[in-house]
Amino acid sequence: MPKPLERLSEEELARKRVIGRVSTSTLSFLTRAFVEQGFDWLLPVVLSKSTDPLWPDPGASIEKRVETEIYGETVRTTLSMIVHKLVACSTAYPRLFSLSPNVRIEKRERSATGWHAYEFTQLDFEVRGGSFGQVRGVVEGVVTGLVDVLKRERRDELMSLSRLDGLGTPRAPFKVMDREEVVEEYGAEWESRLTKEIDDPVWVTNIPREFYDFQDPVSGVWDNYDLLVPRYGEVLSGARREWEYERIVAKMERDGVKKENFALLLQLAAGRRLRPSAGAGIGVERLVSWLVGARHIGEVQPFPKVPGTVYDL
Ligand code: AMP
Ligand code: MG
Repeated sequence: MPKPLERLSEEELARKRVIGRVSTSTLSFLTRAFVEQGFDWLLPVVLSKSTDPLWPDPGASIEKRVETEIYGETVRTTLSMIVHKLVACSTAYPRLFSLSPNVRIEKRERSATGWHAYEFTQLDFEVRGGSFGQVRGVVEGVVTGLVDVLKRERRDELMSLSRLDGLGTPRAPFKVMDREEVVEEYGAEWESRLTKEIDDPVWVTNIPREFYDFQDPVSGVWDNYDLLVPRYGEVLSGARREWEYERIVAKMERDGVKKENFALLLQLAAGRRLRPSAGAGIGVERLVSWLVGARHIGEVQPFPKVPGTVYDL
Protein backbone atom coordinates (compact mmCIF):
# COMPACT_ATOMS: atom_id res chain seq x y z
CA MET A 1 0.00 0.00 0.00
CA PRO A 2 1.42 3.46 -0.85
CA LYS A 3 2.90 5.25 2.14
CA PRO A 4 2.94 8.99 2.88
CA LEU A 5 6.13 10.97 2.20
CA GLU A 6 7.39 11.00 5.78
CA ARG A 7 7.38 7.19 5.94
CA LEU A 8 9.31 6.51 2.72
CA SER A 9 12.86 5.11 2.84
CA GLU A 10 15.65 6.88 0.91
CA GLU A 11 15.23 4.41 -1.92
CA GLU A 12 11.47 4.90 -2.01
CA LEU A 13 11.92 8.67 -1.96
CA ALA A 14 14.22 8.43 -4.96
CA ARG A 15 11.54 6.47 -6.85
CA LYS A 16 8.92 9.04 -5.82
CA ARG A 17 11.12 11.84 -7.18
CA VAL A 18 11.56 10.08 -10.51
CA ILE A 19 7.81 9.54 -10.84
CA GLY A 20 7.41 13.22 -9.97
CA ARG A 21 9.65 14.20 -12.90
CA VAL A 22 7.55 12.15 -15.33
CA SER A 23 4.41 13.61 -13.82
CA THR A 24 5.69 17.17 -14.28
CA SER A 25 6.60 16.53 -17.91
CA THR A 26 3.17 14.99 -18.47
CA LEU A 27 1.32 17.99 -17.05
CA SER A 28 3.56 20.38 -18.94
CA PHE A 29 3.05 18.54 -22.24
CA LEU A 30 -0.73 18.17 -21.87
CA THR A 31 -1.47 21.73 -20.81
CA ARG A 32 0.71 23.11 -23.61
CA ALA A 33 -0.95 20.81 -26.17
CA PHE A 34 -4.45 21.95 -25.17
CA VAL A 35 -3.51 25.63 -25.10
CA GLU A 36 -1.85 25.35 -28.53
CA GLN A 37 -5.04 23.77 -29.90
CA GLY A 38 -7.06 26.83 -28.88
CA PHE A 39 -8.55 25.53 -25.64
CA ASP A 40 -9.15 28.00 -22.81
CA TRP A 41 -7.74 26.87 -19.48
CA LEU A 42 -10.36 27.19 -16.73
CA LEU A 43 -9.37 27.02 -13.10
CA PRO A 44 -11.42 24.40 -11.24
CA VAL A 45 -14.00 24.72 -8.48
CA VAL A 46 -14.49 22.57 -5.40
CA LEU A 47 -17.86 23.53 -3.86
CA SER A 48 -21.09 23.82 -5.89
CA LYS A 49 -24.78 23.10 -5.54
CA SER A 50 -24.66 20.97 -8.66
CA THR A 51 -22.14 18.27 -9.53
CA ASP A 52 -21.92 14.97 -11.40
CA PRO A 53 -24.62 12.51 -10.21
CA LEU A 54 -22.26 9.59 -11.01
CA TRP A 55 -25.43 7.62 -11.49
CA PRO A 56 -26.27 5.35 -13.17
CA ASP A 57 -22.70 4.32 -13.98
CA PRO A 58 -21.76 0.65 -13.86
CA GLY A 59 -18.23 1.68 -12.80
CA ALA A 60 -19.19 3.99 -9.93
CA SER A 61 -18.86 2.86 -6.31
CA ILE A 62 -19.33 5.81 -3.99
CA GLU A 63 -19.50 5.14 -0.24
CA LYS A 64 -20.40 8.67 0.77
CA ARG A 65 -21.22 11.96 -0.93
CA VAL A 66 -19.58 14.95 0.71
CA GLU A 67 -22.10 17.71 1.30
CA THR A 68 -21.93 20.70 3.58
CA GLU A 69 -23.79 23.89 4.22
CA ILE A 70 -22.40 27.34 3.47
CA TYR A 71 -24.31 30.62 3.67
CA GLY A 72 -27.47 28.64 4.27
CA GLU A 73 -27.08 26.63 1.05
CA THR A 74 -26.20 22.95 0.55
CA VAL A 75 -23.08 22.47 -1.56
CA ARG A 76 -21.20 19.38 -2.70
CA THR A 77 -17.55 18.77 -3.39
CA THR A 78 -16.82 18.26 -7.08
CA LEU A 79 -17.39 14.69 -8.27
CA SER A 80 -16.51 15.85 -11.77
CA MET A 81 -16.71 19.19 -13.59
CA ILE A 82 -19.26 17.88 -16.12
CA VAL A 83 -22.06 20.30 -15.19
CA HIS A 84 -19.65 23.24 -15.14
CA LYS A 85 -18.21 22.16 -18.49
CA LEU A 86 -21.63 22.01 -20.13
CA VAL A 87 -22.55 25.48 -18.90
CA ALA A 88 -19.15 27.02 -19.65
CA CYS A 89 -18.92 25.44 -23.10
CA SER A 90 -22.43 26.62 -24.00
CA THR A 91 -21.72 30.20 -22.95
CA ALA A 92 -18.30 31.89 -22.78
CA TYR A 93 -15.82 29.08 -23.51
CA PRO A 94 -16.54 27.03 -26.64
CA ARG A 95 -13.26 25.10 -26.28
CA LEU A 96 -12.20 24.59 -22.71
CA PHE A 97 -10.14 22.41 -20.44
CA SER A 98 -9.48 22.26 -16.73
CA LEU A 99 -7.39 20.31 -14.26
CA SER A 100 -10.14 19.51 -11.86
CA PRO A 101 -9.86 17.94 -8.40
CA ASN A 102 -12.49 15.24 -7.97
CA VAL A 103 -13.48 14.01 -4.51
CA ARG A 104 -15.03 10.57 -4.72
CA ILE A 105 -15.21 8.62 -1.50
CA GLU A 106 -14.80 5.23 -3.16
CA LYS A 107 -15.73 2.07 -1.23
CA ARG A 108 -12.70 0.97 0.82
CA GLU A 109 -12.36 -2.37 -0.96
CA ARG A 110 -11.34 -0.37 -4.02
CA SER A 111 -7.90 0.21 -2.45
CA ALA A 112 -7.12 -3.30 -3.69
CA THR A 113 -7.61 -2.41 -7.36
CA GLY A 114 -4.53 -0.16 -7.23
CA TRP A 115 -6.50 2.01 -9.67
CA HIS A 116 -8.79 4.08 -7.42
CA ALA A 117 -8.00 7.10 -5.29
CA TYR A 118 -10.57 9.01 -3.25
CA GLU A 119 -9.16 12.33 -4.49
CA PHE A 120 -7.76 12.62 -7.97
CA THR A 121 -7.48 15.04 -10.87
CA GLN A 122 -9.17 14.99 -14.23
CA LEU A 123 -7.94 16.81 -17.26
CA ASP A 124 -11.44 17.59 -18.41
CA PHE A 125 -12.14 19.16 -21.79
CA GLU A 126 -15.16 20.03 -23.91
CA VAL A 127 -15.68 21.26 -27.48
CA ARG A 128 -18.82 23.05 -28.63
CA GLY A 129 -20.34 21.26 -31.63
CA GLY A 130 -17.79 18.46 -31.16
CA SER A 131 -18.03 14.81 -32.12
CA PHE A 132 -16.33 11.55 -31.14
CA GLY A 133 -14.16 11.99 -34.23
CA GLN A 134 -12.85 15.33 -32.98
CA VAL A 135 -12.32 14.16 -29.41
CA ARG A 136 -10.61 11.04 -30.67
CA GLY A 137 -8.23 13.12 -32.79
CA VAL A 138 -7.30 15.33 -29.83
CA VAL A 139 -6.81 12.40 -27.42
CA GLU A 140 -4.88 10.15 -29.78
CA GLY A 141 -2.66 13.11 -30.71
CA VAL A 142 -1.81 13.98 -27.12
CA VAL A 143 -1.36 10.37 -25.94
CA THR A 144 0.99 9.36 -28.75
CA GLY A 145 2.81 12.72 -28.61
CA LEU A 146 3.23 12.45 -24.85
CA VAL A 147 4.69 8.94 -24.88
CA ASP A 148 7.01 9.95 -27.68
CA VAL A 149 8.27 13.03 -25.80
CA LEU A 150 8.70 11.15 -22.52
CA LYS A 151 10.67 8.40 -24.19
CA ARG A 152 13.07 11.01 -25.51
CA GLU A 153 13.15 13.59 -22.73
CA ARG A 154 12.58 11.37 -19.68
CA ARG A 155 14.59 8.43 -20.92
CA ASP A 156 16.71 8.08 -17.79
CA GLU A 157 13.70 8.29 -15.52
CA LEU A 158 11.77 5.65 -17.48
CA MET A 159 14.86 3.47 -17.51
CA SER A 160 15.25 3.70 -13.74
CA LEU A 161 11.58 2.71 -13.41
CA SER A 162 12.23 -0.26 -15.77
CA ARG A 163 9.57 1.21 -18.05
CA LEU A 164 11.50 2.34 -21.12
CA ASP A 165 10.98 -0.87 -23.09
CA GLY A 166 7.63 -1.88 -21.58
CA LEU A 167 5.98 1.39 -22.60
CA GLY A 168 5.51 1.08 -26.34
CA THR A 169 4.65 4.25 -28.29
CA PRO A 170 1.00 3.66 -29.21
CA ARG A 171 0.04 3.71 -32.87
CA ALA A 172 -2.91 5.91 -33.83
CA PRO A 173 -5.65 5.45 -34.85
CA PHE A 174 -6.55 3.33 -31.83
CA LYS A 175 -9.01 0.51 -32.34
CA VAL A 176 -12.68 1.26 -31.60
CA MET A 177 -14.91 -1.51 -30.22
CA ASP A 178 -18.61 -1.46 -29.42
CA ARG A 179 -19.44 -2.47 -25.85
CA GLU A 180 -22.02 -5.00 -27.09
CA GLU A 181 -19.38 -6.70 -29.21
CA VAL A 182 -16.92 -6.66 -26.29
CA VAL A 183 -19.48 -8.14 -23.85
CA GLU A 184 -20.22 -10.89 -26.34
CA GLU A 185 -16.53 -11.75 -26.59
CA TYR A 186 -15.41 -11.27 -22.98
CA GLY A 187 -18.58 -11.44 -20.86
CA ALA A 188 -19.53 -9.17 -17.95
CA GLU A 189 -15.89 -8.76 -16.79
CA TRP A 190 -14.96 -7.36 -20.21
CA GLU A 191 -13.04 -4.39 -18.88
CA SER A 192 -10.42 -6.35 -16.97
CA ARG A 193 -10.18 -9.09 -19.60
CA LEU A 194 -9.80 -6.72 -22.54
CA THR A 195 -7.26 -4.66 -20.58
CA LYS A 196 -5.05 -7.75 -20.18
CA GLU A 197 -5.15 -8.61 -23.88
CA ILE A 198 -4.41 -5.32 -25.62
CA ASP A 199 -1.01 -3.95 -26.63
CA ASP A 200 -2.24 -0.49 -27.63
CA PRO A 201 -4.93 1.75 -26.15
CA VAL A 202 -8.45 0.79 -27.25
CA TRP A 203 -11.70 2.78 -27.40
CA VAL A 204 -14.90 1.17 -26.18
CA THR A 205 -18.09 2.98 -27.23
CA ASN A 206 -21.81 2.75 -26.48
CA ILE A 207 -21.79 2.39 -22.69
CA PRO A 208 -25.09 2.98 -20.83
CA ARG A 209 -24.55 5.59 -18.07
CA GLU A 210 -25.39 9.15 -16.87
CA PHE A 211 -28.07 11.37 -18.46
CA TYR A 212 -25.60 13.84 -19.96
CA ASP A 213 -24.07 11.35 -22.43
CA PHE A 214 -25.95 11.36 -25.74
CA GLN A 215 -28.15 8.38 -26.47
CA ASP A 216 -29.79 8.01 -29.86
CA PRO A 217 -33.54 8.17 -29.18
CA VAL A 218 -34.37 5.69 -31.95
CA SER A 219 -31.60 3.08 -31.84
CA GLY A 220 -30.79 3.47 -28.12
CA VAL A 221 -27.06 3.55 -28.99
CA TRP A 222 -24.92 5.78 -26.75
CA ASP A 223 -22.48 8.18 -28.43
CA ASN A 224 -19.92 7.87 -25.66
CA TYR A 225 -16.51 6.28 -25.22
CA ASP A 226 -13.90 5.04 -22.75
CA LEU A 227 -10.20 4.70 -23.47
CA LEU A 228 -8.49 1.62 -22.00
CA VAL A 229 -4.71 1.29 -21.77
CA PRO A 230 -2.87 -2.04 -21.72
CA ARG A 231 -2.49 -3.79 -18.32
CA TYR A 232 -4.11 -0.94 -16.40
CA GLY A 233 -7.59 -0.16 -17.74
CA GLU A 234 -9.82 2.90 -18.16
CA VAL A 235 -7.97 6.23 -18.26
CA LEU A 236 -10.65 8.35 -19.92
CA SER A 237 -14.41 8.61 -20.25
CA GLY A 238 -16.18 10.96 -22.62
CA ALA A 239 -19.19 11.53 -24.81
CA ARG A 240 -21.15 13.71 -27.12
CA ARG A 241 -23.68 15.39 -24.85
CA GLU A 242 -27.39 15.75 -24.52
CA TRP A 243 -28.54 19.37 -24.75
CA GLU A 244 -32.32 19.17 -25.29
CA TYR A 245 -34.49 19.82 -22.25
CA GLU A 246 -37.09 17.16 -22.95
CA ARG A 247 -34.50 14.43 -23.39
CA ILE A 248 -32.52 15.40 -20.30
CA VAL A 249 -35.68 15.45 -18.16
CA ALA A 250 -36.85 12.11 -19.56
CA LYS A 251 -33.51 10.48 -18.77
CA MET A 252 -33.37 11.96 -15.25
CA GLU A 253 -36.85 10.62 -14.56
CA ARG A 254 -35.99 7.24 -16.03
CA ASP A 255 -32.82 6.97 -13.92
CA GLY A 256 -34.20 8.40 -10.67
CA VAL A 257 -31.84 11.41 -10.71
CA LYS A 258 -33.06 14.29 -8.53
CA LYS A 259 -33.97 17.16 -10.85
CA GLU A 260 -33.64 19.72 -8.04
CA ASN A 261 -29.88 19.04 -7.95
CA PHE A 262 -29.59 20.20 -11.57
CA ALA A 263 -31.83 23.25 -11.46
CA LEU A 264 -29.51 25.55 -13.39
CA LEU A 265 -28.70 23.01 -16.08
CA LEU A 266 -32.40 22.34 -16.60
CA GLN A 267 -33.21 26.05 -16.64
CA LEU A 268 -30.60 26.67 -19.35
CA ALA A 269 -31.77 23.66 -21.35
CA ALA A 270 -35.39 24.83 -21.09
CA GLY A 271 -34.34 28.24 -22.43
CA ARG A 272 -32.54 26.49 -25.34
CA ARG A 273 -29.25 27.86 -24.07
CA LEU A 274 -27.40 24.54 -23.81
CA ARG A 275 -25.40 23.83 -26.95
CA PRO A 276 -24.39 20.48 -28.41
CA SER A 277 -20.84 19.55 -27.41
CA ALA A 278 -18.51 16.63 -26.90
CA GLY A 279 -15.62 16.10 -24.54
CA ALA A 280 -13.86 13.81 -22.14
CA GLY A 281 -12.01 13.61 -18.86
CA ILE A 282 -8.60 12.02 -18.55
CA GLY A 283 -7.68 10.67 -15.13
CA VAL A 284 -4.28 12.31 -14.69
CA GLU A 285 -2.99 9.97 -11.96
CA ARG A 286 -4.15 6.94 -13.95
CA LEU A 287 -2.42 8.21 -17.05
CA VAL A 288 0.81 8.75 -15.10
CA SER A 289 0.45 5.32 -13.42
CA TRP A 290 0.38 3.70 -16.84
CA LEU A 291 3.28 5.80 -18.11
CA VAL A 292 5.55 4.98 -15.16
CA GLY A 293 4.30 1.42 -14.61
CA ALA A 294 3.10 2.18 -11.07
CA ARG A 295 2.25 -0.61 -8.63
CA HIS A 296 -0.58 1.47 -7.14
CA ILE A 297 -2.14 4.80 -8.15
CA GLY A 298 -1.24 6.22 -4.71
CA GLU A 299 2.40 5.91 -5.72
CA VAL A 300 2.04 8.73 -8.25
CA GLN A 301 0.25 11.01 -5.77
CA PRO A 302 2.52 13.16 -3.58
CA PHE A 303 -0.15 12.78 -0.90
CA PRO A 304 -1.75 9.35 -1.45
CA LYS A 305 -5.53 9.23 -1.17
CA VAL A 306 -6.11 5.51 -0.93
CA PRO A 307 -9.73 4.42 -0.29
CA GLY A 308 -10.16 3.47 3.37
CA THR A 309 -6.93 5.11 4.61
CA VAL A 310 -6.75 8.72 5.74
CA TYR A 311 -3.21 10.04 6.33
CA ASP A 312 -2.45 13.39 8.00
CA LEU A 313 -1.85 15.09 4.62
P1 AMP B 1 -15.58 9.02 -14.97
O1 AMP B 1 -16.34 10.17 -15.54
O2 AMP B 1 -16.18 8.47 -13.74
O3 AMP B 1 -15.32 7.96 -15.99
O4 AMP B 1 -14.15 9.59 -14.55
C1 AMP B 1 -13.32 10.11 -15.54
C2 AMP B 1 -11.93 9.58 -15.42
O5 AMP B 1 -11.41 9.87 -14.14
C3 AMP B 1 -11.84 8.07 -15.53
O6 AMP B 1 -11.75 7.65 -16.87
C4 AMP B 1 -10.56 7.79 -14.76
O7 AMP B 1 -9.43 7.98 -15.58
C5 AMP B 1 -10.58 8.83 -13.70
N1 AMP B 1 -11.09 8.27 -12.43
C6 AMP B 1 -12.36 7.97 -12.11
N2 AMP B 1 -12.48 7.51 -10.85
C7 AMP B 1 -11.21 7.52 -10.35
C8 AMP B 1 -10.65 7.18 -9.08
N3 AMP B 1 -11.39 6.76 -8.06
N4 AMP B 1 -9.31 7.32 -8.91
C9 AMP B 1 -8.55 7.77 -9.91
N5 AMP B 1 -9.01 8.12 -11.13
C10 AMP B 1 -10.33 8.00 -11.36
MG1 MG C 1 -15.59 6.19 -16.61
